[in-house]
Amino acid sequence: MIYLDNNATTRIDPQVWEKMSVFLEKQYGNPSSLYPLGRDAKESINEARENIAEAMGAERSEIIFTGSGTESDNFAIKGIMDAHPEKDEFVTSAIEHPAVIETALYLEKSGKKVTFIPVDEYGTVDLDVLEKKVTHKTALVSIMHANNEIGTLQPIKDIVYIAKKKNVLVHSDAVQTFGKTKFDVHKLGVDLLSVSAHKIYGPKGIGALYIKKGTEIRPFIHGGHQEGRLRAGTENTAGIIGFGEAARIASQRLKKDKKRLDGLAEQLKKGIESSIPDIKFNGSENERIKTTVNFSFLKLEAEAVLLALAAEGIFVSTGSACSEDSEEVSHVLTAIHLTPEQARSSIRFSIGRFNTEEEIKTVLRELPKIIENLRAISAGSVY
Ligand SMILES: *Cc1c(COP(=O)(O)O)cnc(C)c1O
Repeated sequence: MIYLDNNATTRIDPQVWEKMSVFLEKQYGNPSSLYPLGRDAKESINEARENIAEAMGAERSEIIFTGSGTESDNFAIKGIMDAHPEKDEFVTSAIEHPAVIETALYLEKSGKKVTFIPVDEYGTVDLDVLEKKVTHKTALVSIMHANNEIGTLQPIKDIVYIAKKKNVLVHSDAVQTFGKTKFDVHKLGVDLLSVSAHKIYGPKGIGALYIKKGTEIRPFIHGGHQEGRLRAGTENTAGIIGFGEAARIASQRLKKDKKRLDGLAEQLKKGIESSIPDIKFNGSENERIKTTVNFSFLKLEAEAVLLALAAEGIFVSTGSACSEDSEEVSHVLTAIHLTPEQARSSIRFSIGRFNTEEEIKTVLRELPKIIENLRAISAGSVY
């Protein structure tokens, strides 16, 4: 099996699992309990919090654990909008993850003014439009750090600069960059930032939200005193420990991993470009998380390519929803001006820590044959 869908989720790192399993089996105490079994769990949770804080240049007290990256996005957006009722505008981009897009649509339904900033053909937000749309009535700007479908990195510092001129808070969904590329919340200048464990070789079902000290936010889950009363409920101890360990390992390996994985991605990209005709690269050449490689294989349905690759044990994802309906084509690919046909032929390869050069070579050997065969079959059909 060759797993090239690391933007969707990653395999858990054995070291992460080893640390977690102790907390499922033996250290099962409730972190709120005052005897050692509980207190030790609490202490380990705070170590994990420290590891995550450190990986983004934050303070331990600024990290709140959540149930997912999706929950972190919901918490940030709803929490800030609710805490600032005197400001009823929310600004985001056209290419956000559904966790942000759907939350924005919910806000719109409940009477807020929501603006989706367009992007250019590379997927970069239009800063001129942003400048015009951010007003003194805007409570929050939420723009992702890197896009999950095409990898484009947003100019967060410039976005923050524009927002701060009008005293507006900024949130960024950094689920695709945390642990993969070095950044610092203070240098970025954001007030809130979402991360998730399962994209960095940690467990599923655990995320975190950075909330800058002093930021006014409405609690997301009411109940006990956990997570500074902002997100109540008995902690997912094993998940948190796993996330902390995943963040620690990612920081430690970041430089070396990034160099190797960017190299593999470049090898894949160049290999595809030199061996397969009629393709379109989607995203930004340089302002991109390089391990995300998205191509449209023109005149083919991406599902057919995905299934043919899967038959060879190679797992990728399509850039578009599986639907005949052009309205359901990926909003990201539509936003970067792809036609519905181009969007429907898009395949995303995403490379991760456990991929090898041998695997990339195998893909580059199989893929051209697959594309050629499918094109021969579909020649003269719908397109
Ligand atoms: C995966 C992902 C999310 C959602 O995170 P979950 O932990 O799966 O809920 C949010 N934003 C981006 C950019 C992602 O890639």
